[in-house]
Amino acid sequence: GMSAFLVDRDTPGFNVLRKIPMIDGTATYEIALDDCRVPGWKLLGTRGQGFLPMQVRLGTRRIEMASWSIGMAQRALDMMIEYAPQRVTFGKPLSSRQTVQNWIADAATRIHAMRLMTYDCAWKIDEGRDTRQEISMIKSYCTEAAYDIVDHAMQMFGGMGMTREMPLYLLSNKLRTMRIYDGPSEIHNWVVARDLLGTRE
Ligand SMILES: Cc1cc2nc3c(=O)[nH]c(=O)nc-3n(C[C@H](O)[C@H](O)[C@H](O)COP(=O)(O)OP(=O)(O)OC[C@H]3O[C@@H](n4cnc5c(N)ncnc54)[C@H](O)[C@@H]3O)c2cc1C
Repeated sequence: GMSAFLVDRDTPGFNVLRKIPMIDGTATYEIALDDCRVPGWKLLGTRGQGFLPMQVRLGTRRIEMASWSIGMAQRALDMMIEYAPQRVTFGKPLSSRQTVQNWIADAATRIHAMRLMTYDCAWKIDEGRDTRQEISMIKSYCTEAAYDIVDHAMQMFGGMGMTREMPLYLLSNKLRTMRIYDGPSEIHNWVVARDLLGTRE
C-alpha cells in the first residue's frame, strides 16, 4: 500500500541531516522530511503501488550485484594463481600447499557456479519469467562466495594482503557491504525457503 514520490532536493521541508561514511569508501545520508509537500504529479507510478517500480529495479540491480561479485572473485583468483608459485615459505612454494590448492580450486568452482547461475537468471528475465527465487539465490550466493574468495586471497598474501597497497581490501570492503545492501543474505535465503516451503513465515 505504499506510494512513492520524487522529491526535488530544494523542496521546503526536505532536510539532509548528515553524511555518513561507509566502510567501502562511499557515503550515505540521513534525511528528514518535515511538512514536506510535493505536487500530485510527482507521484511515481500509481497510488498505493510505489513498491512496484522499485521491485523491477531491484531485480536488475541484484543481477548487477552478482556480476560485480563474479568480477571481484575472478580478480582475487587471478592474483592467487599468479602469486602462489612465486612465494616460497619453509622451502616450498605456496602453490604446493594443499590448503592453498583448495582455496584456488574452491574459488574456480564457485566462480563457475556463480557465472552459470547468473546467466541462467538473466536468460529467464529476458524470457519474461518469474525469477524472484533465482534473484534471491544469486544475490546471496554470489556476494557470500565472492567475499570468501577475496578473504582467502588476503590470507594467502599474508601481511601484504593487509595493506592498502593491494586492491584486495577494497574488494573485501565492497563485498562486505554488498552482503547487506539490496537485502541481507539471510533475508534472501528466507525468501527462497518460504517459497519452497509454501509458508509466509
Ligand atoms: C548505503 C546503503 C544503501 C542501501 N541500498 C539498498 C537498496 O538500494 N536496496 C535495498 O533493498 N537495500 C539497500 N540497503 C539495505 C537496507 O537499507 C537495510 O540496511 C537492509 O535491508 C537491512 O535492514 P536493517 O539495516 O534495518 O537491518 P535489520 O533489519 O535490523 O537486520 C539486521 C540483521 O539481522 C538479520 N535479520 C533480519 N531479519 C532477519 C530475518 N527475517 N531472518 C534472518 N535474519 C534476519 C540479518 O542478518 C540482518 O543483516 C542499503 C543499505 C545501506 C547502508
